[in-house]
Amino acid sequence: MLSNKLGLAPRLLSSYSKRLAVIDYHYFTSKDLIYPDLEVSYESLEAQLEIISRNCRLRPPVETLEEIFSGKMKSEEQSLIITIDDADKTLLEALTFFNEFKIPLVLFAPVGLCLSENESDGLRSRCLHMYKYLSLFDFPDPYSQLVNADKYFDFIINSSFKDLDKLYKIIRSIERESSVILERKLLTIQQLKDIIESQNIIVASHTMSHSVLSELPTDWMKWEISRSSEIISQIGGDIRLFAYPYGYKKSYNQNVKNTLENAGVKYAFTTTSSLTKQNSDHLSIGRASMLNYKERSFVLGTVSGAFRIWDRLLLR
Ligand SMILES: [Zn+2]
Repeated sequence: MLSNKLGLAPRLLSSYSKRLAVIDYHYFTSKDLIYPDLEVSYESLEAQLEIISRNCRLRPPVETLEEIFSGKMKSEEQSLIITIDDADKTLLEALTFFNEFKIPLVLFAPVGLCLSENESDGLRSRCLHMYKYLSLFDFPDPYSQLVNADKYFDFIINSSFKDLDKLYKIIRSIERESSVILERKLLTIQQLKDIIESQNIIVASHTMSHSVLSELPTDWMKWEISRSSEIISQIGGDIRLFAYPYGYKKSYNQNVKNTLENAGVKYAFTTTSSLTKQNSDHLSIGRASMLNYKERSFVLGTVSGAFRIWDRLLLR
């Protein structure tokens, strides 16, 4: 708010036509917030979208990206792309507001977790997701060798559904902490398909299991990207766009970027708040999280890159 009022947000300092802001949402709620970093109330959302639709230029996301990177962006307004991560079911109700203001949207789905637990890849993705939540040395025999991430991935990919199911039950009993995303209800693959067809929303990959890509063995990391890309294209999504799970600077690296490029990804989004210019890295496009405020100066500060200053102060 302050940065917008003092004019520290670049919106007031430079020509709009050269910068692109991207914001992201996660969960929506009509109750008190449980996760203030991830949730926005429907009431705030409606107020935010109204402010945004009056002040920003919201064109189809892929065209906007092409224009900014080719230097052909010609606009007097702040260009903005709105994204939602994690495909939480609460977004279905939020879509009413996006429709009301005719705001285009990119939805990044961890498709492996959107698959049912009764499908191999759905169960595999849940097991893989849980790896970092395990107290690994509690693995009972004969699973003790699975402490090693390579062996863990090998086992998950090559086991029968029955063996995997058995392992998943053990995993849930030795987890150190529960995972927020596994506790949420995510959209199903059918629901993703439906919103692509009926609402003209871009759905893109947020990997299979929502793990930190830079921490994974190469085979595992490649599977996260290639398998999710297959599913995204099967349901009519757009494989040119991608969002890194967690998205902080160290959650991806050059190896991950090369794999994305080979899989046909042109634009990959982080969660570091930065504005995108013509010479920015296509595979490291910054985004600011939209928080639960409905004040005009907060919303305009956020879409103008005010959080860039905050992230710099925190060396993120
Ligand atoms: Zn995510």
